[in-house]
Amino acid sequence: MNIIDTLLRPDLRGREPYGAPQLDVAVRLNTNENSYPLPPAVVASIEKAVSAVAPHLNRYPDRDAVRLRADIADYLGYGLTPEAVWAANGSNEILQQLSQAFAGPGRVALGFTPAYSMHPIITTAVGGAWIEGNRDRRFDLTVESAVEQVLRHRPDIVFLCSPNNPTGTALTPEVVTAVVDAAPGLVVVDEAYAEFARAGTTSALDLLVGRPRLVVTRTMSKAFGLAGARVGYLAADPAVVEALRLVRLPYHLSTVTQVVARAALEHAPLLLATVDAIREQRDRLVRELTGLGLDVAPSDANFVLFGGLSDSSGVWRSLVDRGVLIRDVGIPGWLRVTAGTPEETGEFLDALRIILNGES
Ligand code: PMP
Repeated sequence: MNIIDTLLRPDLRGREPYGAPQLDVAVRLNTNENSYPLPPAVVASIEKAVSAVAPHLNRYPDRDAVRLRADIADYLGYGLTPEAVWAANGSNEILQQLSQAFAGPGRVALGFTPAYSMHPIITTAVGGAWIEGNRDRRFDLTVESAVEQVLRHRPDIVFLCSPNNPTGTALTPEVVTAVVDAAPGLVVVDEAYAEFARAGTTSALDLLVGRPRLVVTRTMSKAFGLAGARVGYLAADPAVVEALRLVRLPYHLSTVTQVVARAALEHAPLLLATVDAIREQRDRLVRELTGLGLDVAPSDANFVLFGGLSDSSGVWRSLVDRGVLIRDVGIPGWLRVTAGTPEETGEFLDALRIILNGES
């Protein structure tokens, strides 16, 4: 062990950092980004907004991002006020601030895996204990199973993910409300992919009234196509937002980030116009992967999990060799692919067909 390893917190020794590969290949469908560049009108608004604040960057930003939070509240609707909304550098930072305030040393967080890999990483990074809950057959989560696990572990914080990454499906409102009723602590519904949900799904935003322990997190990284700007947010009881002000770093959200996010929100309908095109490619992936005889999980997100591969790591490697990067999420036999442009999606499907024909 080198000197730094001996100095590191014992509970962090030997852990792996979050590490989706960032490879320079032609087709990148591995981190569920939006493949479409920002339209010129949005770029122009962002440039104008950044130019306007540039001379004033000698000053710290608005610590509470008041105007951005008001714009997010307006965008979300549901009668939300700015006091019920909080913003940070990606929803990852939102999840971290929630964990700092409500989990941490001596406390327990529960999630139902497979789910978003950062939930356990954030929990343990802030010194909390992570309990890996289970899903049912084919990654489903029933009311009975979720409630039983919550009652057994009595966690301080429960992470639900809807639509779930990496499996793709949204939770029913019955599961969310049952978990809130059963849980002693905070219930966080990570809705990073909510805008891509199929018709008929319910957002947990619809369940907030009268449930002060329910928190809904969202991001501008996916449907809005703004992953590079790092903007995430939550909607919750204003008391939750007040609690986060105890742990956030002062001026955590830069002036540049705040004005970029506001400029993007002004163009929300234009930016969200890509959602339908992405959904189409998502449904095409489900159709064509099923046609290839693979096992395909239904998806409410901008990605698809598919299984039935005898050597999933080998298929992943062969795709990289053909310039197509998708995600090996560590479930043997399964891989996850992001729905890209029609061309990218087609290149992935063509490459996969060739590889599977060679495999058989
Ligand atoms: N939640 C889920 C379920 C995600 O998949 C991601 C990103 N992959 C995030 C949160 C974090 O996204 P960001 O920090 O870019 O908002």
